[in-house]
Amino acid sequence: MIVTDLRSDTVTRPTPKMLQAMFAAPVGDDVFGEDPTVNALEEKAAALFGLEAGLFCPSGTMTNQIAIKAHTEPLSEVICDYTSHIYQYEGGGIAANSGASVYLLHGERGKITPDLIRTGIRPNNIHYPLSKLVALENTSNKGGGSYYTLPEIMAISEVCRQNHLVLHLDGARVFNALVAAQESPLPYGEYFDSISVCLSKGLGTPVGSVLLGSKSFIHKSRRIRKVFGGGMRQAGYLAAAGIYALDNHINRLAEDHAKARILADVLQECSFVQTLQPVDTNIVIFRLVDGVSEEQFLRELAAQHILALDFGPQTIRLVTHLDFTSAMLDHTVQVLKNLKF
Ligand SMILES: *Cc1c(COP(=O)(O)O)cnc(C)c1O
Repeated sequence: MIVTDLRSDTVTRPTPKMLQAMFAAPVGDDVFGEDPTVNALEEKAAALFGLEAGLFCPSGTMTNQIAIKAHTEPLSEVICDYTSHIYQYEGGGIAANSGASVYLLHGERGKITPDLIRTGIRPNNIHYPLSKLVALENTSNKGGGSYYTLPEIMAISEVCRQNHLVLHLDGARVFNALVAAQESPLPYGEYFDSISVCLSKGLGTPVGSVLLGSKSFIHKSRRIRKVFGGGMRQAGYLAAAGIYALDNHINRLAEDHAKARILADVLQECSFVQTLQPVDTNIVIFRLVDGVSEEQFLRELAAQHILALDFGPQTIRLVTHLDFTSAMLDHTVQVLKNLKF
């Protein structure tokens, strides 16, 4: 039986060609820096974003947490939107791993602005934590896949520079943002001090994220990765999937966005939908009308072999991805149109 899994873009399986690339990878011991495929992935990703160096890690949580630890010290503070993955979904890691405090901003659909950031910068006074790092998320997960354009990023980077703040990007879905905005990754290196890029979301690899930054930042990050238990050995088999994805799975993200758009258009007309968030990339978030609970909705969908995610009270998230075929889209559209509560 075919299950249509729209819970996340992490559910994809490697394609046959990706698997071939993985099997064929030359490998070595990456803790000794001797895995040629890991080295090639790190160099390739860094060059794409105009940064000097990269570090392959098991997860996006690890790349974010390493970056925060490398950029901050205890008594300092991270400024980010309250919906941020680094704050909401990394288990309180900022406090546990870095001993840093967090200043939460209330942005618009996960996005913050130069003016908002200015409100979060502490005066130079011993009562306050030391403002150190600003973190953006592009695209924003809780913001329903909203994205920053390069001019917006440039303006934020300017505020950070003026105030001696470091700028990190949680780019778990940065390629969704770039494809939607029709922008190149290359200028990013000029504006961000570090970037975390997930390979296992829209890009469709089984494992891995890459942290990008200057040579000295990555050197420090490599130490922290070891302490976090993220030093891997013949990881080239996994890195090969990342190289394959960077070569083959970026432009096709536009298909995921188009499918999300079609789902949104259908949901807009459904009587069980109270409000639908704008759909900019591959994430669709909607609120159910009073009287239809998320459990009830998910049960009805599951009965038709479609899986979605409970995203808070009365709220559902759907994410389109590489393994969400056109036939699955047609099936999902039919099911949504016929659902009655
Ligand atoms: C998925 C995700 C991450 C990383 O999560 P892992 O599951 O640790 O790979 C980070 N930020 C955002 C916005 C994400 O969606």
